[in-house]
Amino acid sequence: MGFTQSSRRGPSNEIFEQLPIIGISVGSKDPKAPVLGLFGGVHGLERIGAQVCIALLRSLSELMLWDSLLQEALKNIRIVAVPMINPLGMMHLRRSNPNGVDLMRNAPIEADGDVHRLLGGHRLSPRLPWYRGPIKEPPSLEPENQAVLEFCQKQFFSSPAVVTVDFHSGFGLQDQIWFPYAKSVKPFPHLAEMHALKNLFERTHPHHFYRIEPQAKNYTTNGDLWDYIYELYCQQNKGVYLPLAVEMGSWMWVRKNPLQIFSTLGPFNPVKPHRQKRILRRHTTLFDFLIRSMASPQFWSELSVEQKNKNQILAQELWYSV
Ligand SMILES: [Zn+2]
Repeated sequence: MGFTQSSRRGPSNEIFEQLPIIGISVGSKDPKAPVLGLFGGVHGLERIGAQVCIALLRSLSELMLWDSLLQEALKNIRIVAVPMINPLGMMHLRRSNPNGVDLMRNAPIEADGDVHRLLGGHRLSPRLPWYRGPIKEPPSLEPENQAVLEFCQKQFFSSPAVVTVDFHSGFGLQDQIWFPYAKSVKPFPHLAEMHALKNLFERTHPHHFYRIEPQAKNYTTNGDLWDYIYELYCQQNKGVYLPLAVEMGSWMWVRKNPLQIFSTLGPFNPVKPHRQKRILRRHTTLFDFLIRSMASPQFWSELSVEQKNKNQILAQELWYSV
């Protein structure tokens, strides 16, 4: 679906590196089918995000061979994935892409208020983390993000019910599910539907371990790719789109094995093999729930006016009251 590329300049020659960005789509070809998307590997140091995506896709591919419930569901829904958005960053052990750009700060989106001077996304230098890239006129995305945007436009911009999950790690002591915005502490337009989906999840899996809240409760940023894709979707579709991020609580792994903080990958990934296995199976319940939610979208994406109002009020109280 696209390529990431970079050149390294030596004294006499240039070495070009290029790796494919792979997108996968299974299930219904109907543009109006509900769509579940899995994404990972935006940040090259957060290998576990790509690995979790691939583990879920591997189980899915086996289930597709024999599970008649899933086979039936896939006639009506589509599951899409880009498990490794930043393969060159991953190859070179860098958070950023080869241009030094943090792909999650690169979209043409400005935060509402003040953001942290570095973490919030800056244009000071590609040598510093969280670099947004240079200002371009007209605005353009880094090749990895452009490939993801085009994939999303093709796969779900005509669908009335979409959930995407982007897997990250490196922040916090608990697994969190974040929903928009990253750019603002204000509620996003599909807050009622987000609350309905959360309720459905909590009723179905009351012992789940995620903290579910708007990303902006943790920090706000400029240039969030999912804020941007969400806005573009809403400009041309009256449907419901919930772009979620799973932020895996990697500080738990560091707390149990403190020495790993001194390695490049240690702060972001489970290092011990038994812990890595545990993390690779940890999000199966969420994935299964989301597949079922796509097959029965009326319970979260087609709310009556009354249900919408009720969910809106509950969501405001839960997430936005001081
Ligand atoms: Zn990340």
